[in-house]
Amino acid sequence: MSENQRIYLDHAATSRLRPEVLEAMQSALSEQFGNPSSVHKEGQKGRRLLEEGRDSIAKSLDCQPSEVYFTSGGTESDNWAIRCLAEYATRDDPSKHRVITSAIEHPAVLESCRYLEKQGFEVVYLPVDQYGLISPDSLAKALTPETCLVSIMYANNEIGTIEPISELVDLTHQQGVLFHTDAVQAVGAVPISFHKLGVDAGSFSSHKFGGPSGIGGLYLRNNLKVPSLIVGGAQEYGLRAGTENVVGAVGLSKALEISVAEMSSETKRISEIRDLLIKNVLSSIPSAKLCGHPMDRLPGNAHFVFDGVEGEALLLYLNLEGYACSSGSACSSGSHESSHVLQAIGLTPSMARSALRITIGHENTEEDVLSIVPVIQKLVARLQTRR
Ligand code: PLP
Repeated sequence: MSENQRIYLDHAATSRLRPEVLEAMQSALSEQFGNPSSVHKEGQKGRRLLEEGRDSIAKSLDCQPSEVYFTSGGTESDNWAIRCLAEYATRDDPSKHRVITSAIEHPAVLESCRYLEKQGFEVVYLPVDQYGLISPDSLAKALTPETCLVSIMYANNEIGTIEPISELVDLTHQQGVLFHTDAVQAVGAVPISFHKLGVDAGSFSSHKFGGPSGIGGLYLRNNLKVPSLIVGGAQEYGLRAGTENVVGAVGLSKALEISVAEMSSETKRISEIRDLLIKNVLSSIPSAKLCGHPMDRLPGNAHFVFDGVEGEALLLYLNLEGYACSSGSACSSGSHESSHVLQAIGLTPSMARSALRITIGHENTEEDVLSIVPVIQKLVARLQTRR
């Protein structure tokens, strides 16, 4: 690899803006500035772009445009759905004070649940098995008449495991309880129909599939009663105040449209590369162990631990060799706490600190991705001898 050539393998963290998205955003930026709430021509142009974006997102995610709300990203969508749905339910019926989630959720969900605990809610954190799967039986047992909300992620951001959401939704609805899914890692990567899935609420985020960061969305089933998280003006059907991010909405909808159009071919291509990568890493590095489900995982996700290796050092050396990867958790940003996800699947804290997450995106070729294998092999051998 030449000195300046970099290989980006951290698409679960964020993805590069697609060129077509950049073009659509540039043209929106230069041609429109009006406030979509204004009655004049300039404002109405902004309104049209916003609503065209909403229509296109609804088509991509198989739902009604009136069920799509723009937010500032996955974190806000998760906060809004969890805090406001639970608070509304308990206001209607104070006996409904129980929320169920899982032990492997993103901090945006876990911290929203901790906020609810401080407001007097009881939160149940369902365990997962060695692959990170939530068992429908454990959810069935946890659902009591006091439960008002279940929030389970569609796919895990660290180990890539895809949860049996349809089954979990059916069980939850049989008890008349609302279901929210954090679909931030899944939207744009695997086919999602919010109507077929039957969830009441679903979070997604533009920068995970080639759109800009700082914009995302929340699917809220029509006629669902939910108060606002952000109060102020009457934007977003009166539920999410603040002048709309029109250019962001243009970028989000364009990125999703392209991701959905390419999905069947890209899912196949990327998962084939991922499988080759997993096979080559496991066969060439004896201490390597794959985390997450062997089959039910996101197309681009390969997550390993290497016994006896300090993951942070591995990431830094890979960066020097030209590869951008991650540990998948807060460890990569300087925290020494090991991942709650890896601990939940049964790894010891020291194993959990040896993590390497490689997430493949549409810009990666098979050659690019497989070129990392001998580099990991060399670095793992070097770091293991240092113990
Ligand atoms: N939920 C999951 C599963 C994620 O992976 C992320 C981002 O990494 C988020 C929520 C937060 O999304 P955002 O960065 O758009 O706030």
